[in-house]
Amino acid sequence: MKSKTCFSHLGQLLTQYYNEKEAQNAANYINKTHNNDLLPYHCAKCNLWHLSPKNRRTSSQTCNRCTGRDGVKKESYSSKREAHLRANIIYDEQGISLRVYKCKYGFGWHLTKSQF
Ligand SMILES: [Zn+2]
Ligand SMILES: [Zn+2]
Repeated sequence: MKSKTCFSHLGQLLTQYYNEKEAQNAANYINKTHNNDLLPYHCAKCNLWHLSPKNRRTSSQTCNRCTGRDGVKKESYSSKREAHLRANIIYDEQGISLRVYKCKYGFGWHLTKSQF
C-alpha cells in the first residue's frame, strides 16, 4: 500500500507497512527478486514502516548514557559528518530536521529534535 504522506528522496510515494515483520518480508522479497539491498525503518512521520536502500544507512551505536525524551537509548554516531549525513537522510525521508550535538559523555555525536 502506498503512503499518502511520505515520499522518498526521489519524490515518489513510499510503500507503507504496518509492522516490522511485514516490512522485513517485503524487503526480503524485493532484495531477492530485484537484487536490491533494502532495509525496513520505522517512520516517525506516519508511525508506519517503509523500506530504504542500505547504502543510505549510516552506522550507529546506542549510547550507554543518553536517552531521548521517550526513554529510548540515543543513537550515537562516531563522527560529526556521519551524524549530519544521517540527519540529512531523515530530513529527506521524514521531513524532520534534526540538530547534531556532541555527546556530553564522549560517546560520539547525537541527533535531537529540540532546538535549545
Ligand atoms: Zn512515513
Ligand atoms: Zn550520549
